[in-house]
Amino acid sequence: MTITLSDYDPYDFANRRHIGPSPSEIADMLATVGASSLDALIDETVPASIRQKASLAFGDPMSEREVLDHLRATAKKNTVMVSLIGQGYHGTIMPPVIQRTILENPAWYTAYTPYQPEISQGRLEALLNFQTMVADLTGLDIANASLLDEATAAAEAMTMAERASKSKAKAFFVDHHCHPQTIDVIRTRAEPLGLEVVIGDPFTELEADQVFGAIFQYPGTYGHVHDFTDVITRLHAGQAIAVVAADPLSLALLKSPGEMGADIAVGSMQRFGVPMGYGGPHAAYMAVRDAYKRSMPGRLVGVTVDARGNQAYRLALQTREQHIRREKATSNICTAQVLLAVIASMYAVFHGPVGLRAIAGRVHQRAATMAAGLKQLDFIIDPAIFFDTVTVFAEGRQAEILEAARREGLNLRKVGDDRIGIALDEVTRKDTVEAVWRAFGGSLNYADLLSEPIIPDPMGRQTAYLEHPIFHMNRAESEMTRYIRRLSDKDLALDRTMIPLGSCTMKLNATAEMLSITWPEFADIHPFAPADQALGYREMIDDLSDKLCRITGYDAISMQPNSGAQGEYAGLMTIRAYHRANGESHRDVCLIPTSAHGTNPASAQMAGMRVVTVQTRDNGDIDLDDFRAKAEQHSANLAACMITYPSTHGVFEETATEVCAITHKHGGQVYLDGANLNALVGLARPGDIGSDVSHLNLHKTFCIPHGGGGPGMGPIGVKSHLAEHLPGHWATDGKPGAVSAAPFGSASILPISWAYCLMMGGAGLTQATKIAILNANYIAARLKGAYDVLYASASGRVAHECILDTRPLVQSAGVTVDDVAKRLIDCGFHAPTMSWPVAGTLMIEPTESEVKAELDRFCAAMLAIRAEAQAIEDGEMDRENNPLKHAPHTIEDLVGPWDRPYDREAACFPAGAIRNAKYFAPVNRVDNVYGDRNLVCSCPPLTDYADAAE
Ligand SMILES: *Cc1c(COP(=O)(O)O)cnc(C)c1O
Repeated sequence: MTITLSDYDPYDFANRRHIGPSPSEIADMLATVGASSLDALIDETVPASIRQKASLAFGDPMSEREVLDHLRATAKKNTVMVSLIGQGYHGTIMPPVIQRTILENPAWYTAYTPYQPEISQGRLEALLNFQTMVADLTGLDIANASLLDEATAAAEAMTMAERASKSKAKAFFVDHHCHPQTIDVIRTRAEPLGLEVVIGDPFTELEADQVFGAIFQYPGTYGHVHDFTDVITRLHAGQAIAVVAADPLSLALLKSPGEMGADIAVGSMQRFGVPMGYGGPHAAYMAVRDAYKRSMPGRLVGVTVDARGNQAYRLALQTREQHIRREKATSNICTAQVLLAVIASMYAVFHGPVGLRAIAGRVHQRAATMAAGLKQLDFIIDPAIFFDTVTVFAEGRQAEILEAARREGLNLRKVGDDRIGIALDEVTRKDTVEAVWRAFGGSLNYADLLSEPIIPDPMGRQTAYLEHPIFHMNRAESEMTRYIRRLSDKDLALDRTMIPLGSCTMKLNATAEMLSITWPEFADIHPFAPADQALGYREMIDDLSDKLCRITGYDAISMQPNSGAQGEYAGLMTIRAYHRANGESHRDVCLIPTSAHGTNPASAQMAGMRVVTVQTRDNGDIDLDDFRAKAEQHSANLAACMITYPSTHGVFEETATEVCAITHKHGGQVYLDGANLNALVGLARPGDIGSDVSHLNLHKTFCIPHGGGGPGMGPIGVKSHLAEHLPGHWATDGKPGAVSAAPFGSASILPISWAYCLMMGGAGLTQATKIAILNANYIAARLKGAYDVLYASASGRVAHECILDTRPLVQSAGVTVDDVAKRLIDCGFHAPTMSWPVAGTLMIEPTESEVKAELDRFCAAMLAIRAEAQAIEDGEMDRENNPLKHAPHTIEDLVGPWDRPYDREAACFPAGAIRNAKYFAPVNRVDNVYGDRNLVCSCPPLTDYADAAE
């Protein structure tokens, strides 16, 4: 037998992993779009004037095995110690069942933000559990479904307090015992808004009538457990709002913020099972009194009913979205921390109130015992009343003790020059406490010193929490597994279908990229651990930054922003700092086209800029005449413009370089929203086009999964002249201007983007961009005729996404864009982006990851929907009583009485539906208005969980 060696390398998955269409499919698709070759298509699509000169080169692509070896070697350069630093980050144990069935499960991590409630009931339920848990623990009425980190949540609470307070004061009081990173982010956020920050001791230095609000840390960063009831009473007398930043685990044992009279509580749910990850991602929370629910930032899950009157969940009060409120939006938060909120909520479901109290009780007892030992060793300890954290006076011995602790494998917190902070956690063992004692020079036995709890009765928790049955289910792992499975089965994520959401770039999140995020060397590093314990992180961050610079044409990257909107804010603040350094602090006008993403104007407002809107032309391009006129008019005060490239309409505008030139001529800086980088990588670089700063959504272009609405990473790239004005952080360069709690944002998900770049190499990344453009043009070509494709380049090409106009169907058939989106659910698809950037249209972004068969399935569905609309137009189908209006159909529609003029077969199995693996939405169409009128944002009574028992 002769064996012939072919060129085929069975381990070279580079193309077959990320790039959907096979070479023969690519050829077929090119024929359909009418291009002679892929490069010819790209030449027709991407203007020559902006094409990058040199191709991307970062060495050869690595195979999966090579990249995993490389990640392993890099991870090993981090040193995993037991970090008892505290300061908002603690060791925790993620229950393995949650790790495997949620964090490592694409059904959860590849889902999108639940804007389409009918296909998101599972994660909406998990988020409702989260809200219920937070409201219960904090003793407040209503909680949202996550913010980005504790420090930004505190800053959001400040601006919310300013909106809600009746006080005329412009100052915000900050407890000197707040975590340092919280104080820094509050300072950053306050400055451009003209708010004064007063830092001091709430018991002696707070003048309640001089402030619109105040924030207290509970327990304080050095461990103090204070009752703020009297201070809050004084604040209320002065018309000011009280915010408490509370550690949720401590609330299992301590009097809640609500019982002290707090109006708002914020904090981090990290220690509910989410690893420290060198700073993130973790879910922050915010809870408020009922009176303030309508001014709360972030997303809120609420209960409503569906078309059959059954209970359903959906995002409540969506009119607060930035797309509608623009620069008047309450906040720019878009991507939040949904996956982490889901994990934290499941941690509470897993442990229940009894388990949480036991964990908190054990942590507290270990801390009390540790304190007793330190006292025996003649150390003075502050405070006397604490939950898990104490501060030890170590005059003259601080360095020596910290070093001795390190030899024991422990990181303690350096506080000033003479104190040491120690925070215990769920992971702390008895021998950890003994090791702490040894570091302080004593050889003591844990059993000899075992202490009773020291929390005095008045500070103890008297009220119940987590009483809802969901927190009392039988927690046998079989039941947990099935509960989690049942929820994910209700949802449509990338593991079942393409999610063609324009602008959101729902591409493959490859398994090999995901594997390393739970390795202890990445997961268990405290963000404020000594730098020499994070050398692997440093190496990865440096190399990823270098690659991102080469991709974008920028000179420096800040990894601090932990979402795209945070990146916008950070970038605009960088521009602001640059103008100030040049003595041009009066420059505060920001030109933003009407077509911009809603976060753009919201971020500009937060950065203290005045938003001036620029018109877009009928073809979706920026109206250059209007742009020029506005730039002239505001020349003296022009700070920046914010543009998106390719445009939010999915077109490579020929005028981008001119827009940059006009802005520069008038002294402004160009912010290029990098969310559409998936159309640029390897072909064109924002830095070359003339832009000065961009954020990159690593959770879009660079494969970090969307998590059902977060996590994300929004690092910014800048040109060299802006580099010195990037956000600082006390933990790294000691400079002000922090925008996130941790110096590298959600650092532990960076290996995903890094692995993607390493496995693709420069050529692979460029190929991905080309195929993303091909896939979008293929859909446009196949659906043209049935639908108008809005906006194309002069050569008739779209970029990486295309907009289909469904507005004519309203007139002709009474069919709305909503009807089309809901009918797509019956076909087994997640709807494209709806009504943005153009109301009444669908924006489709297939990404390079989708194979031709999946694109064809989608086109078949869209064509069948058009045919149904046609049947209405032709009078063959009723205008009201038709499958489009009744979509989505549930499995209930297959049984029971049926009086519709179309049959069940047509209802449930339209084109695209996969018959032997049919996805059924668990609810019929959700009634949004009902839910907003009858706002319920915590778990309803169990009797309402209709499906549970039946
Ligand atoms: C996604 C997106 C953003 C915001 O990013 P988040 O991470 O959700 O905050 C901003 N601009 C555009 C064009 C986007 O598509």
